Amino acid sequence: MSRIGLVLSCEHASWTLPPGVDLGVSLADLQSQASWDHGAFDIANRLSEAAGIPVHAGAFSRMYVDLNRPPAHEGVVPLTSYGAPVPGNASLTAAERATRVEQFHAPYWAAVRRDVLARLRDPGAVLHLSSHSFDPALDPTNRQFDVGVLYDPAHPFEAELAERMMFALRGAGLLVRANQPYTGVGPALCTELRIELAPKPYAGIELETSHAVTHQAGGCARVAEALFPFLDEL
Ligand SMILES: [Zn+2]
Repeated sequence: MSRIGLVLSCEHASWTLPPGVDLGVSLADLQSQASWDHGAFDIANRLSEAAGIPVHAGAFSRMYVDLNRPPAHEGVVPLTSYGAPVPGNASLTAAERATRVEQFHAPYWAAVRRDVLARLRDPGAVLHLSSHSFDPALDPTNRQFDVGVLYDPAHPFEAELAERMMFALRGAGLLVRANQPYTGVGPALCTELRIELAPKPYAGIELETSHAVTHQAGGCARVAEALFPFLDEL
């Protein structure tokens, strides 16, 4: 029996908007990093199939509601995303923003939280793996690597799992960085659950795969398959 349960999520899985919604954003921006994480769901879905568990996946663009921001964060219904303006959000009243968060953000976080709490009861510890991707073109000098593993170095249980994950990824020949291109303690679903659930054995780790990998033929499969042995040993 597994000692550590697994929960998979992918907050930025989709660039689409709900039917009838027009945010005044160009199709090019909707299909860019400003709106979703290319390849992140492909990787999460492969992990899901291998582990035989579902993956929590965001249905809509982060420009509509950013599922990787806490509900009270100003960027949860963003006015700009990665520099791209989101005109359709600019005229919303506070009540309209709150309604959108309640309808589209709260159910997602509740579902992930419920799944995490169930694993904390049985088998008693949980790894929550949240799949994302980054655009190396946004910072070419510092983003010359394949995969970032984001975690809280001050959280021993999480740091140990992150080390094992990085070992597995490096074993597959991938260039891996700890807590790059983002910190593991920034505003995010994993960060919020880590704070909320402390001191329970919850590890919330974000996998950040470079678009240079996700756009490669077989790139997403390569990252996912590198993690299969690690997940098997949980
Ligand atoms: Zn993301």
